[in-house]
Amino acid sequence: MHTNFSDGTFSPQEVVEAAHREGLSCIAITDHDTVEGVLPAMQAAQKYDLEIIAGVELSCQQNNKDIHMLAYLFDYENEEFKRRIGDFQESRVKRMAEMIDKLKELGIRDITLEEVCVLAKSQSVGRPHLARILVEKGHVNNTKAAFDKYLAEGEPAYVGKYKMTPNEAIEFVHKVGGVAVLAHPMLTNCDEMIPGFVEAGLDGLEVYYANIAAPIVEFYRKLAEKYNLLTTGGSDAHGDAKKNTYIGKMKIPYALVEKLKEAAAKRRGV
Ligand code: AMP
Ligand code: ZN
Repeated sequence: MHTNFSDGTFSPQEVVEAAHREGLSCIAITDHDTVEGVLPAMQAAQKYDLEIIAGVELSCQQNNKDIHMLAYLFDYENEEFKRRIGDFQESRVKRMAEMIDKLKELGIRDITLEEVCVLAKSQSVGRPHLARILVEKGHVNNTKAAFDKYLAEGEPAYVGKYKMTPNEAIEFVHKVGGVAVLAHPMLTNCDEMIPGFVEAGLDGLEVYYANIAAPIVEFYRKLAEKYNLLTTGGSDAHGDAKKNTYIGKMKIPYALVEKLKEAAAKRRGV
């Protein structure tokens, strides 16, 4: 689940409240390229019987395709981890400044870096935040139009951001004691790359995802079985930023969490 430390709209506290209301026993906070929502969520969950798993969704790229790598159960206080995550965020802020400059060239001159950064509580600022500001200021009618007209790849205000390769991400996640899971493969369309990720040590596939037809879920479940991968799932909730999914929409058995934990313990040699 995402919080407002990246492009979700709920604070970690609100995520925890919603998860509790939905009767969930365990959730993972997986913001884009930041772990700053994890501790506040853990603190907020203390009064409930709700377990929080530390996670992050790393932005990766291969063959010009955006690939998201989920990491779970790693040591998020590891210094090298924090440094590399810091690099990610620095490059996101720099890139946001470049996108705002491009908008200026296109005649949109009333957007400042500060106001976009305020929307993300961390420095994990991204295009969804800029899209919201474009809507708020009346330059477009909705966020989809903001992407279609300005922010999508190939559109005039688009700037790419620094990304690891998925294999680098897998190595990085293992180094900090976590497990690496390919996020929403049914949306990413990178099936042909999966054997390579497996060779690099991929631990799992996010098989259970909201609004996906049963045969497609079954296809990825079988693929996971074929490669002896863990299976995970979640709502990928973004608060109000993604209306078609919400906290509690996707529930998976706790046994899958136990398997994830076993794999992480094995990675750490425990
Ligand atoms: P960024 O990390 O800044 O490149 O932003 C990526 C995020 O923007 C994705 O995770 C999506 O939530 C959102 N996004 C990407 N493309 C579109 C699009 N065409 N329409 C709406 N949202 C999009
Ligand atoms: Zn994703």
